[in-house]
Amino acid sequence: MIENYGWSASLAGVFEPHARAGHAPGRVILQQRDGYLVATDDGELRAKVSGRLRHEAREIGLPAVGDWVALSVSPSDRKAVIHAMLPRRTAFVRRAADSMQRLQILAANVDVAFVVTSMNADLNLRRIQRYLAAAWESGARPVVVLTKSDLCDDPQEQAAQIAALGTDCPILMVSARQGLGLDAMLDQMKAGETGVLIGSSGVGKSTLVNAFLNEDRMATQAIRESDDQGRHTTSHRQLVLLPGGGLLLDTPGIREVGLIDAEAGVSAVFEDIERLPQDCRFTDCTHTNEPGCAVQAALKSGALDPDRWAHFQQLTLELAEAEDKQARAAKAAERRRLGVLQKVYRATKRNDRGGAD
Ligand code: GDP
Ligand code: ZN
Repeated sequence: MIENYGWSASLAGVFEPHARAGHAPGRVILQQRDGYLVATDDGELRAKVSGRLRHEAREIGLPAVGDWVALSVSPSDRKAVIHAMLPRRTAFVRRAADSMQRLQILAANVDVAFVVTSMNADLNLRRIQRYLAAAWESGARPVVVLTKSDLCDDPQEQAAQIAALGTDCPILMVSARQGLGLDAMLDQMKAGETGVLIGSSGVGKSTLVNAFLNEDRMATQAIRESDDQGRHTTSHRQLVLLPGGGLLLDTPGIREVGLIDAEAGVSAVFEDIERLPQDCRFTDCTHTNEPGCAVQAALKSGALDPDRWAHFQQLTLELAEAEDKQARAAKAAERRRLGVLQKVYRATKRNDRGGAD
């Protein structure tokens, strides 16, 4: 049973001390305010975190969806207590807004991060970079997925633009509507591996999930439960089994993870290149023909691939232009807004005068 969720001999090895303590392994498949749902060899169990683990969580974060945990199970009410977590192989992490120290784990042990973007809108390379950076930071393998190929005249052109980012990851084109490319996505995950879909809202993530499950997931995977007031609420598993043996992790917050820590993420794709100029002799080096230029040296020695350097320069230019354009558009919008306000103000004045007469 937990083999379906990715349990393996190597995990069993790591779990050994917990097994000796009499604990059973499980994987968190749903996280809620008041507890967890955990998949175990004994079926799905509700679980709470032990006081001690809660205390330790200051450093490692509380258990999150995707985590492997060590449980004790009370046979009478089938309620479980989570005593420990296995070390995470990968993690999407966010620092809690109220304190930089507290870690919030959005998803644990993700193998493949599908960076989803839609082909019917303008391609936002900077945004894709952010998502890719978030994926890399987590430790998962990124895969770019271009959706809605049925709405795009020239899908290859968009794929080429992304390839030009110099990102060393597969780029897939899919249409959930036409059922194209879905198998290629599933093929990215081995049985027992876990994937996430990250990307802005509207790009087609839910549609993909439904296409994979070939059914309405809310309806078929709903869990009925009672909240504190005894009302019935429905929620769905955040870790679902896909045909082909892969798993898909879908928690609130994970989908748009790339936009959370935008600035930190932007440079990650070209981090090595961005560090190079620090070693140039001149701080205002243009990296063309100055003596002591680290970029030229790296190009000459072969440490820096000329194509990547060219892509980096082109992208930097494109991003600067895009930002200029956005800044100009924002200014124009502000002017329009002020114009409208002034008109409203003048009209009010006129009315006031009118009323006084
Ligand atoms: P999410 O916010 O990323 O989960 O996006 P949704 O899955 O809700 O999709 C947003 C919209 O795009 C919906 O109206 C979908 O019907 C539409 N959509 C999703 N996938 C496709 C596709 O492959 N082709 C077309 N034409 N539309 C799609
Ligand atoms: Zn230089």
